[in-house]
Amino acid sequence: MDETTDPNLKSFIPVSEDSHFPIQNLPYGVFQRSNDEKPRIGVAIGEYILDLSILEKEGFFNDTSLSETHVFSRSTLNDFMALGKKAWDEARHVISSVLRNDNPALRDNKELQRKCLVPQSAAKMCMPVSTIDFTDFYSSKYHASNVGAMIRGPENALYPNWLHLPVAYHGRASSIILSGENFHRPWGQILPDNEKTPIFSPTQALDFELEMGFYIGVGNELGNPIPIDKATDHIFGMVLVNDWSARDIQKWEYVPLGPFLAKSFATSISPWVVPLTALEPFKCEGVKQEPEPLPYLRLEKNWTFDIKLEVYLKTQKLTTPYKIVSSNFKYLYWNIAQQVAHHTVNGCNLQTGDLLASGTISGPTVESLGCLLEITQLGRRPLVLPNGEKRVFLHDYDSVIMTAWCQGNGYKVGFGNVTTTVLPAQLKSHPK
Ligand code: CA
Repeated sequence: MDETTDPNLKSFIPVSEDSHFPIQNLPYGVFQRSNDEKPRIGVAIGEYILDLSILEKEGFFNDTSLSETHVFSRSTLNDFMALGKKAWDEARHVISSVLRNDNPALRDNKELQRKCLVPQSAAKMCMPVSTIDFTDFYSSKYHASNVGAMIRGPENALYPNWLHLPVAYHGRASSIILSGENFHRPWGQILPDNEKTPIFSPTQALDFELEMGFYIGVGNELGNPIPIDKATDHIFGMVLVNDWSARDIQKWEYVPLGPFLAKSFATSISPWVVPLTALEPFKCEGVKQEPEPLPYLRLEKNWTFDIKLEVYLKTQKLTTPYKIVSSNFKYLYWNIAQQVAHHTVNGCNLQTGDLLASGTISGPTVESLGCLLEITQLGRRPLVLPNGEKRVFLHDYDSVIMTAWCQGNGYKVGFGNVTTTVLPAQLKSHPK
């Protein structure tokens, strides 16, 4: 076990038991204190951000392979991610050490603290990673079976390929947005029930999808697949993902090539990237895979992470967020190493900053269904909110709030949240 994840570590910065950001986490993000300040890189600690660009200037990383790289003064994490696992580990050890309560270097230097500790409430978070390619998997057997059964009947719930390979599609990276950034209900082609020709309309079936994603730190050369036992060396860290979906647009367009405009209008992510190292203590046994996958996808034992997931809904009338989903990352059938191995097995090159998302994470219980399509059983069972409001799909000004954390003994290694509000369709974007 890496010493930076020791449950006994304490920071001199106070961190409450409910905080997502104890010294065992140290997630990376990009922030700015004002609009005219250049974005820079920091880690979250309690209610503060430690400004790594200042530590870098002060020489804290001089004894590591990061020396002279200036990666923490950049406005995305990409250059740091591209340095590879040795540099990530070295940086993490320096940062952990600087924040420890038994290290006087920053603890007793009030002037340095004034320069490099920024209250999160005084900072604006920015897009952490520049992403060229976004791939979305479909790795929850519960989700794939539920959706398949609703559409094709329980006998044909899963397509024959599903248990042999992690199904995925190439998503759209340009419309990845950060938590707090809202979007307008998209327009598109929709085929009304019992009609033969489509209409052009704002989607009437806007849904969220509870997902998690991971960033590729170091890619592979074209033609050189990443073997499954090396896959995690290429993964930098994880974020929460809300993969917005317009179900009516999707239903009309997806045959035969899969999702397109129903998915590409917005995908929300949380601002803090949790390093894979911080998740190590929460590794757990994954779902048993039957039949056994082909050798290139074979693990000694399927492993995953125990990450608790929740989704809350807030409406214009219901201002206290109401919990509508409790799920867990561990319910996924295919694990992240298998996803990397499969993605590259044909020689496809992954690149620094690529985002690979899990697909909707649904579990075995009614509470753990990860999107409205499943929760409402294709609209047959509307969701009833505590104030009597009903939802089949999302209304304008509804806010969806997702959160995720690993539960330690007396501390949480968390992802913060991803919060997005649906804005009304824009008339001006309606081309005649
Ligand atoms: Ca998805």
